[in-house]
Amino acid sequence: MPQVEPDQRRSARVVARSGRVGGAPRLFDAVLLDRDGTLIEDVPYNGDPERVRPMPGARAALDELRTAGLRLAVVTNQSGLAKGLFTRAQLRAVHARVEELLGPFDAWLVCPHDDEDRCGCRKPAPKMIHSAARRLGTTPRQCVLIGDIGRDVTAALAAGAQAVLVPTPLTRPAETSAAPWVAADLSTAVAEILRRQTAIAPAAHRPAAASAAVPSVAAAGSAPTLVTAGPARRSRASGGAGTVLVVRSDSAGDVVVTGPGIRAVAAHAHRVVLLCGPRGRAAADLLPGVDTVVVHQLPWIDPAPAPVTGPDIATLTATLAAVNADEAVIFTSYHQSPLPLALLLRTVGVARISAISDDYPGSLLDIRHRVPVGVPEPERALSLAAAAGYPLPPDDEPALRLRPVPPPPARAGAPGYVVLHPGSAAQSRGLPPDLAVEIVRTLVTAGHRVVVTGGPDEVALTAQVAGGLAADLGGRTELADLAATVAGAAAVIVGNTGPAHLAAAYGVPVVSLFAPTVPFGQWGPWRVPTVRLGDPDAPCRGTRAATCPVPGHPCLSRIWPEEVLTALTLLGVAPSRPPRSAGATALARSGR
Ligand SMILES: [Zn+2]
Repeated sequence: MPQVEPDQRRSARVVARSGRVGGAPRLFDAVLLDRDGTLIEDVPYNGDPERVRPMPGARAALDELRTAGLRLAVVTNQSGLAKGLFTRAQLRAVHARVEELLGPFDAWLVCPHDDEDRCGCRKPAPKMIHSAARRLGTTPRQCVLIGDIGRDVTAALAAGAQAVLVPTPLTRPAETSAAPWVAADLSTAVAEILRRQTAIAPAAHRPAAASAAVPSVAAAGSAPTLVTAGPARRSRASGGAGTVLVVRSDSAGDVVVTGPGIRAVAAHAHRVVLLCGPRGRAAADLLPGVDTVVVHQLPWIDPAPAPVTGPDIATLTATLAAVNADEAVIFTSYHQSPLPLALLLRTVGVARISAISDDYPGSLLDIRHRVPVGVPEPERALSLAAAAGYPLPPDDEPALRLRPVPPPPARAGAPGYVVLHPGSAAQSRGLPPDLAVEIVRTLVTAGHRVVVTGGPDEVALTAQVAGGLAADLGGRTELADLAATVAGAAAVIVGNTGPAHLAAAYGVPVVSLFAPTVPFGQWGPWRVPTVRLGDPDAPCRGTRAATCPVPGHPCLSRIWPEEVLTALTLLGVAPSRPPRSAGATALARSGR
């Protein structure tokens, strides 16, 4: 680490980035809006400006976005043009009326085609999202779309943008269930976009926790950060952070999604020590910004916890004391408690502790942060880091990142392959083996080259799934090798498990076969092109079950293999070979 006081580095950055207080990078540059049913009432095939009626609160909501410096574009399917139901001149008149009522937009993107035209721009295809981002001088992942039907959400996610669904009576319930983020109306959607934007890049840094005598509200919004009074603290004469202990227990995926929050801390600290569990160790080694990793299984976090014993807690306490941290930031998921660890950290004299806790922390926390349910895990971590005084620096961005990996193993084959990762540590989130077998057969028949990956305990599964048609890398992959295989792929087909987040970290599109045991908006691949498949309303929804509680694993077993092919097409991933004939496939399956 460079020998420079963190505060000096921070102020240099503030100066370098004039006009933006604090200089933290923003989550969103632009908001893309569907037109009919979102901005204005849906009047089918309307070519008459007199019939334009804004949705309730639309003007005020849009003005809030404009005031916040967000650029605005409309992205709209208008198949009435293809059907000859109105003319381009009439459409222009309607749009002039929309701007008269709702104010100016920075870009208008219109698909004039109908379904049978099979164009690339009609939502759910993502081309208009890409075009809008380009026209607005940004990238899809710095855009969020607001729409009223599933096509809007699918197009946004396939481009790597985020999406908010504002349902109308015409929205199908399954579309609402599948959406990562749902708001009751346009005003609520806008308020949440701005809240999330502010949560990771607050205007002011490092609230003066050390001097707070009474609880005070440090951040505005529905989930304020409470700066509670703590015990007497060591003075931090430098005003910056020396050694910061960051904590994320649990699995590899959990560690990867905490990466942005850890990078934010690292940008302001002299030294970052990460405490993780044994299952997260390999991922911890791939995280940028971590200087030292210490491993201990926390029995109040681990899903298969060992009994709490005096000697084990004594060992953990000694480990924590040896870190000699000035501060700690304890990252957790929403059903996990930071408080047992905070207590141990207090006993070894850590002077400043930050964590998210809905439970009352007493004097265990200096920064008690609150986050609404449903916020993406990486944003949850970033908002805690920001509340603790560590926003992402301007030369970083809110995205998953991992250290560079070597080229994929030779057995994966030439670039252009797709990875299918059928397993998961939690059976409820893995693919039904029969479905995985059928997906391989369908993809190979269509001309895709498939690589099947899995851990050392999944060798039988990957052999069954590869079936002589796909390259079987099961059991051969350390996490770094798996990361290399994923990083070299054209796309990854995977359940809600670690490799989905590895793919997001390397910018590889994901076909997410997502069991709804946890919220998709919170745990889905973050800021990477994604297509979600699977039944979002299956009875396992919201159960957090590790083993599927429903006979037949229906949330995933009812996926058609052809849906995976369609998803790859939406993601722009073409087969690397001509389609096989059925006979050739049969021969390959029989191993001849
Ligand atoms: Zn089109």
